[in-house]
Amino acid sequence: MDNDFRLCMTFWGVRGSTPTPQIENLSYGGNTPCLEVLLPNNEVFIFDGGTGIRTLGASLLQRAGDQKVSLKVFLTHFHWDHIQGIPFFPPLYYEENEVTFHSVGFLEGTHRRMGSNSGLEETLKEQMRNPYFPISFDFLPAKKGFVEIDLEPLKFGKLTIHPFPLHHPGKAFGYRIESEGAVIVYATDLEHGHQELDTVVRDFSQNADLLIFDSQYTPEEYEKQKGWGHSTWLEGCRVANEAKVEQLALFHHDPSYDDQKFFQIVQKARRKFENTVGAQEGYSVVL
Ligand SMILES: [Zn+2]
Ligand SMILES: [Zn+2]
Repeated sequence: MDNDFRLCMTFWGVRGSTPTPQIENLSYGGNTPCLEVLLPNNEVFIFDGGTGIRTLGASLLQRAGDQKVSLKVFLTHFHWDHIQGIPFFPPLYYEENEVTFHSVGFLEGTHRRMGSNSGLEETLKEQMRNPYFPISFDFLPAKKGFVEIDLEPLKFGKLTIHPFPLHHPGKAFGYRIESEGAVIVYATDLEHGHQELDTVVRDFSQNADLLIFDSQYTPEEYEKQKGWGHSTWLEGCRVANEAKVEQLALFHHDPSYDDQKFFQIVQKARRKFENTVGAQEGYSVVL
């Protein structure tokens, strides 16, 4: 039987750059980026494979009981904090499961540099190659698929996933996720100040129910971190206001932020955009 919602998004990893398992960070969470998007028919779409994907995978196996799981994973890019949980993703360790990875084919040939037919597959294999990991990606028994997508919207039943480019070193891609009128925009790992791509993120965020935005820095910190590929809570508020979104989630928290500092940032942001939350592991938005 179908559930009574259109989209249900849960944060499993919210931290930028590196996991931060210190006790003073754990109210918001120390795992690197991973989102679960659940559809009413219990289909699951995963966005990014940071360390949060490990606990998500364990939860999915538990929910499935003795049934196989079939999952689609969308990656924003291949910086380590967005893929480092994949070697520990439990569904990959059972041959009955299916996991299909998607990413936008890198237009500047990053994917192709290994001369493989599937740059996405090669790139994921790389991080598990000897001596970085004791077993190879090929050894993981689940049925694995690799789909390099372009910037056209993808349809999966009622769900549409529309990638868009972000201003980030080596490129990254955001996703507008839409089903039956419910809209979630995942825009992480972007730096504002690129005229064309600033417009793109506003266009793709139009009227979203939830905008998840890279707000790694405060405006003051940003002055010293220009060119590092990340944005601020203030820019998140600007995009949220201009694109008329319903709710803003500040995301990709700097590793230096403890819960207290981040809580204060969220309070500041609420003065610029009232319906702001700080992304927190375990927090779900049901639309
Ligand atoms: Zn990142
Ligand atoms: Zn990045």
